[in-house]
Parts: sequence; structure tokens; C-alpha cells
Amino acid sequence: MVHGHGGVQFQNWAKTYGCSPELYFQPTSVEEIKEILELARQRNKRVKVVGGGHSPSDIACTDGFMIQMGKMNKILKVDKEKKQVTVEAGILLSDLNGELTKYGLALANLGAVSEVAAAGGIGTGTHNTGIKHGILPTQVVALTLLTAAGEILECSEGSHADIFQAARVHLGCLGVVLTITFQCVPEFYLQETTFPSTLKEVLDNLDSHLQRSEYFRFLWFPHSENVSVIYQDHTSKSPSSMGSWFWDYAIGYYLLEFLLWVSTFLPFLVPWINRGFFWLLFTSKGEKVDLSYKVFNYECRFKQHVQDWAIPIEKTKDALLELKATLESSPKVVAHYPVEVRFARADGILLSPCFQRDSCYMNIIMYRPYGKDVPRLDYWLAYEGIMKKFGGRPHWAKAHACTRKDFEKIYPGFPKFCSIREKLDPTGMFLNTYLEKVLY
Ligand SMILES: Cc1cc2nc3c(=O)[nH]c(=O)nc-3n(C[C@H](O)[C@H](O)[C@H](O)COP(=O)(O)OP(=O)(O)OC[C@H]3O[C@@H](n4cnc5c(N)ncnc54)[C@H](O)[C@@H]3O)c2cc1C
Repeated sequence: MVHGHGGVQFQNWAKTYGCSPELYFQPTSVEEIKEILELARQRNKRVKVVGGGHSPSDIACTDGFMIQMGKMNKILKVDKEKKQVTVEAGILLSDLNGELTKYGLALANLGAVSEVAAAGGIGTGTHNTGIKHGILPTQVVALTLLTAAGEILECSEGSHADIFQAARVHLGCLGVVLTITFQCVPEFYLQETTFPSTLKEVLDNLDSHLQRSEYFRFLWFPHSENVSVIYQDHTSKSPSSMGSWFWDYAIGYYLLEFLLWVSTFLPFLVPWINRGFFWLLFTSKGEKVDLSYKVFNYECRFKQHVQDWAIPIEKTKDALLELKATLESSPKVVAHYPVEVRFARADGILLSPCFQRDSCYMNIIMYRPYGKDVPRLDYWLAYEGIMKKFGGRPHWAKAHACTRKDFEKIYPGFPKFCSIREKLDPTGMFLNTYLEKVLY
């Protein structure tokens, strides 16, 4: 008999959202998950499944039953010929990356961190960059879903294709994802090259940057023209690194956090901090070579608030220039660095921000130095206004103020997703406050 614990406090990675689930479960088998759902049905409770708890919103919160999938983390099958791996949905991508290297395999693309679970990562549409590459869920070729009624559905292009089209970005509201099959590629090394540039140069030559590097992205330092360009490309070179002593010895982190904290009292310092850190860290050329996942992933040390909308790729220049102009004309609005600009290929997943269009993601942040919230409302509103104007779709895991009305306008497949959800979960067992806001 599966046992749930009371009194557990859940907090997301950034410590910006938390909840106190009535009962907290860590099942070790599908049978146990079925038991939990049965108990929830009997007691009329809601259920939320949680992966790595990294979502910077309340998407994984509940005061009902919480199912933490950390013990359902095995690799079930590796098909060397097809280069596919089937995993239990709770496996952390950091564990999967290491295991895949034993088979000479890798995921073709990853987000900035791998301490996310397989199902959690795909569920909110985690993405990285590279215009030839889709978001993480496009690497999924099959998954199994345990529905509210206790039925297990095997979903792929060839089986329950409609549900599959919805379930790769599932928001945690279609059922419990039990297993996922990823399409992998042969293990590869990446060379990362970083060099300084200006916003004008990068925006004027965007196509050429996108062509020149497979995983091109750039960091813009708000309140300035400064940009750091990052190219990542396949290489046959051996691992090496030209690291920054400033970061390596963590001096940079301590200093930055302290200065950001000081700037909470003296906000006019923020543009100087942005320029100073660009000068210290990003003005010289950097290079490193390593296994792909070690290059895709980087350390995010600071807790932060974050928004990350995807706009049609052809709007990149206009949107960024408008954000820059807005900041210039509103000196009281301050923006922490960097604005991270990434790209992803169009796909056909119903709630993917890249649904049917090549996209540019523009990620803005406000750090929380020593856990202190920095006023961000004006920046947030200005950014959201610009993103909406250019047809943006917000990242499902990050901050946004959109509701069903907005999503109906920006997602052609939104009604289809909602009707699939209503069929799979007619009583709303898998809903929570976040989902009620976006689905109703
Ligand atoms: C430091 C940091 C860096 C990040 N970098 C990036 C980035 O580069 N790119 C990007 O796009 N995003 C990024 N994110 C966001 C992150 O990728 C997403 O929030 C992702 O969804 C987190 O995965 P998780 O396993 O922690 O999911 P959780 O936050 O635990 O859950 C996310 C959703 O999935 C559902 N869920 C989880 N497991 C299951 C399951 N088995 N069955 C059904 N539903 C389930 C939950 O209910 C919830 O709705 C970052 C976040 C942080 C904190």
C-alpha cells in the first residue's frame, strides 16, 4: 500500500513559489501511481505530478496530492539501431546524459540545466537554441500516459496521434506521463566560441549568424549596445577550456550578487553593473570544447524571476530594438543582464510556442540578490506589451499574465488541446490554480 506524507513543503528552484500538499507521494511503480489516483478519486482530491521542481512559476504547485517522480528514474530500453532511448518519466536529464554516453548516444539539444526530469522538461516546452533544432519535446517519439480513469495510453505518431500531438507539451494536465522515448543522435563534441559584438551588428547580420553556427545565441546587456555572441558547433577537437579566472574562482559571483543587492537601493547603478560585467567577462574571445551536454548546460547560480516569450523569427530585430528604445526612454525602468536571445525551428505540437513558425525566444531576468525581490513590474509590463505586439507566445513554465482569452488568439490548436484534456480528465483531477488561469 503506497504511503503519502503530510506536512511536506514544496518550493520551486528559484524559491519564488511553494505549496503545502495535503499528501506527498514518491511512488516506485506504476501500480503505486494507480493506487494514488484511485485514492484521489475516492476522496475527490486533485493531483499534481512534479519532476525536478525547476519551473519558475506555480505550474507544479498544489494543495491536493503531489506525486514526486524522482524514484521512477530508470532507463528501460536502448535501441542502438534506431538510436532511441526509453526512460521512466522521472529520470533527471543530468542522469540520462551520463548514461547515454555509455551507448555512444546523446540528445541533439538541451536546455541550460539538466536537473530537470524528462516529463517535466518536455511538459512546459523547454528549449535551447539552433534554428535547425526544435524545442526539447520535438525529440520525443513516443510516451505513455496514465489517465485520470487509470487507463495507460501508448502515444506516438502511429498510435493515439492526436493525444501525442498534445502530450509532448502537456503542462501536466493530461495525466501522469510514465515513460518517454527520445530520439537520440550519436554522441558528439561541441566547440563553444564566444566573442563580443554590438546589438546593431548582430541584428543587421542575423541570418548570417544563424547560418554560421548550428547553436547560435546571443546575450544582450540592457542599457547598452553590448552583445556577447555564442557559437556552438560540432567539432572533432579534444576537450579544452579557456575559462575565466574571474568566474572560476567564484569572485565574479560574489561581487555581482553584492552589487546587485546594493543596486536595490541605488537602481541607477544597474546600467553600470551591466556595462562593467560585460567589460570584465565578455570583451575577450573565449573557447571551450567538451561533450555536447557539458557545453549546452551552464551553471545558473542566482535565483531569479524570468520571462521568456517566443516571437516569429522575422520580428527579432524590431522587437529587440523596441525593447531597447523603451528602456532608453524610461530611465526609471532597470533591467538586469543578460537578455538571452535564442532560436528554434517550427514544429507541429499543439501548445509549443514554436507551433508552425520558426521562432526567436527572448529571455529577460531580474535576479533576487540574497533572496531579495527587485521591483520589476514596469520592465515586465513593457516587455510583455512588446511581445504581444509582435505575436509572442510565453514560455509555459515562466512568468506571464496570459489567460485562456490570450491563448485562444495565439494558438490555433488551443481549442483542440482543451477538448483532448477534457476527454482525458473530465473531472479536472490534474488541474491547479495555474492551469485554471490558462485553461479557463
Ligand atoms: C536554472 C534554470 C534554468 C532553466 N533553463 C531553461 C532553458 O534553458 N530553456 C527552457 O526552456 N527552460 C529553462 N528552464 C525552465 C525549465 O526547463 C522548465 O521549467 C522545466 O519544465 C522544468 O522541468 P522540471 O522537471 O523541473 O519540471 P517541474 O517544474 O517539476 O514540472 C513542470 C510541469 O511538468 C509536470 N510534470 C512533471 N512530471 C510529470 C509527469 N511525470 N507527468 C505529468 N506531468 C508532469 C508538472 O506537473 C508541471 O506542470 C530553466 C529553469 C531553471 C530553474
